[in-house]
Amino acid sequence: MLKKTVIVRPELCVGCMQCMIRCAEAHSQSKSLASAIGEEILAKPRIHLGVGPENKPFPNKCRHCEPAPCQEACMPWAIRDDIAEGLKIVDPTRCIGCGMCAMACPYYVIRFFQDAGAPERPSVAVKCDGCHERVAAGAIPACVAACKTGALTFDEVNLYLKQGTNRLANAVYGVKA
Ligand code: SF4
Ligand code: SF4
Repeated sequence: MLKKTVIVRPELCVGCMQCMIRCAEAHSQSKSLASAIGEEILAKPRIHLGVGPENKPFPNKCRHCEPAPCQEACMPWAIRDDIAEGLKIVDPTRCIGCGMCAMACPYYVIRFFQDAGAPERPSVAVKCDGCHERVAAGAIPACVAACKTGALTFDEVNLYLKQGTNRLANAVYGVKA
């Protein structure tokens, strides 16, 4: 489990798709939405909205598992560890687009597209990279920055869980958190 990660609270999601749009922007070559839509290889979102009962949205993204089934399934070792941040990151120059990672992932968070990181390949695995470049520069992941409802936050896992325990305690005693 990552020390600090994107926490998803689907009950707060309103399905506005801003997380998807800003994720694609952050992974574009220009890092600008206005320019990104004109790029030859369109950047794609790495967070996806599922649709549940009564059309309730469910933001879904890579959990950066440890061990990671996707990484274990990848024959050409195209999914590397970012040890410092605990991330699993696809190297598009090594990916052969075989799809084994997506079949092994229990969360259905991998997609296949042409990627500017390996433009000669027609289709490679594309998934969340934890916005590691943004985080290294002191920013928060793009999806979190875009989310205005609190459905996505970038938190210390144990701190978030402690707050959740407090919410539960308040609910048990009938106090609105
Ligand atoms: S792509 Fe799936 S299996 Fe791989 S680390 Fe992310 S959630 Fe885990
Ligand atoms: S599609 Fe790419 S990342 Fe996925 S298992 Fe195949 S080579 Fe590895």
